[in-house]
Amino acid sequence: MKISKKATTIAIVNQKGGTGKTTTCENLGIGLAMEGKKVLLVDADPQGSLTISMGWQQPDELPTTLSTLMAKAMNDQSIPPGEGILHHAEGVDLIPANIELAGLEVSLVNTINREKMLKQVLDGAKREYDFILLDCTPSLGMLTVNALAAADTTLIPVQAQYLSAKGLEQLLQTINKVHRQINPKLKIGGVFLTMANDTNFRKDIVAGVKENFGKHLPVLDAVIPATVRLAEISTADKSIFRHEPRGRAAAAYGALVKEVERIGEKQRIRDADITR
Ligand code: ADP
Ligand code: MG
Repeated sequence: MKISKKATTIAIVNQKGGTGKTTTCENLGIGLAMEGKKVLLVDADPQGSLTISMGWQQPDELPTTLSTLMAKAMNDQSIPPGEGILHHAEGVDLIPANIELAGLEVSLVNTINREKMLKQVLDGAKREYDFILLDCTPSLGMLTVNALAAADTTLIPVQAQYLSAKGLEQLLQTINKVHRQINPKLKIGGVFLTMANDTNFRKDIVAGVKENFGKHLPVLDAVIPATVRLAEISTADKSIFRHEPRGRAAAAYGALVKEVERIGEKQRIRDADITR
């Protein structure tokens, strides 16, 4: 008997640029693959940073990208399984993106069901993978709304010094709105700290964050340190697990992998309850 999988789809989201979304998508994805999970990464940012970081240095030359697939969904054309999916040496798959996605976002405006085009693209893949990670663009526009509509849950990387800022409030409002109006299944998996320096890496800081925010949203235990090792891999076509396997950044992403596996486990139990 073939038991079909049902991927946990996670939008990695924060409308602020440079909070570690792309770095997290790559390293969390590869970390999950190292645990034996089947993982699809989706570059949902017209800048194509994830695509570049995973070794496809010229995203504009790729024949098929996320925008090609979303355009097909908009035109009601079928998408053959596996179309446009690239395979990375560290065991994850990738749907790449390039600047064409910016034009596609504009054309979504006049489309019926415009919030659900990415969901439609990923429908088939849900049965093939354990985890689908969506690397969101730094805005709360239509592409991010599409990611939230396709997701089961969200992960929010934040820099410690910005935690109390207004930005998080706006993001949570958008997530809540999508939850109410478009995707009632959508959850918040958690906020976690990235680019933490030695001061805000301390346990009492994390405890303080939990005290402040824990009532409203989950705060994960994993804290990703600020380290030049992580900055280096954005052009190196390899994960932190290959670049510096015994360093503290690899350990921190390893801890995040464990927490995300638990989130996926809960998701599967919920899905099983619903279908029972
Ligand atoms: P986003 O996708 O949210 O815009 P990125 O993951 O691209 O953020 O990170 C922004 C920049 O910071 C990139 O150059 C990346 O290499 C670097 N970076 C990401 N995480 C860390 C970290 N923990 N420590 C140091 N540099 C980091
Ligand atoms: Mg990014």
